[in-house]
Amino acid sequence: MQIKIRENCFVSTCGYNPDSKDFIAFIDANRGKWVDVETEHLFSNQYNTEKFRVMDKHISAVRDDARIGKGVCVYCGSIVSVGETCTKRPTCADYGIKWFTAENTMYIAHPNSVPAVKECKMDDEKKFGSFRLEQLGGSLNYYRLKNARETFNFQYADGVFYMRDGSPKKSLGIKAQSFSLKDLKAYLDSQNAI
Ligand SMILES: [Zn+2]
Repeated sequence: MQIKIRENCFVSTCGYNPDSKDFIAFIDANRGKWVDVETEHLFSNQYNTEKFRVMDKHISAVRDDARIGKGVCVYCGSIVSVGETCTKRPTCADYGIKWFTAENTMYIAHPNSVPAVKECKMDDEKKFGSFRLEQLGGSLNYYRLKNARETFNFQYADGVFYMRDGSPKKSLGIKAQSFSLKDLKAYLDSQNAI
């Protein structure tokens, strides 16, 4: 299994969650390149490489995805194949398996690319309830929905919102009364259809 480090991957020593200098050096050395993934421990939105934990937001593609047909034991974290159960601990069977699917694992749904988001155009701003929608292109490449109190950064494809850590969500968790999610999705679909 390999991941391709995003050519325009955003890393920074500033902000709420700064990247380490070693991690930034690793990213800079591997931009646009394929990197091996250790498959003993698998996650829906992150990858263990030889030295560093890499997130979906750092990559642009996955090949030979070892997660297809696999799942994680919810109790002990062991990797299990379809048709099997985890027998490591007596209680494992009670907790079940969280299978990797196209719904919960972005790169199973989109192995060759991040969801297409158009380049930023500030005159594309649109209001949804009290929220203002912006498109941010370049190395960030996501939508931002913002009002005086809350900010949501996300990508969008096929009716699913992908948060900045890569986790897919059916909704943004904004209170239903503030605006119609249907209107937002219809607008984003019209933007992505081009
Ligand atoms: Zn188990």
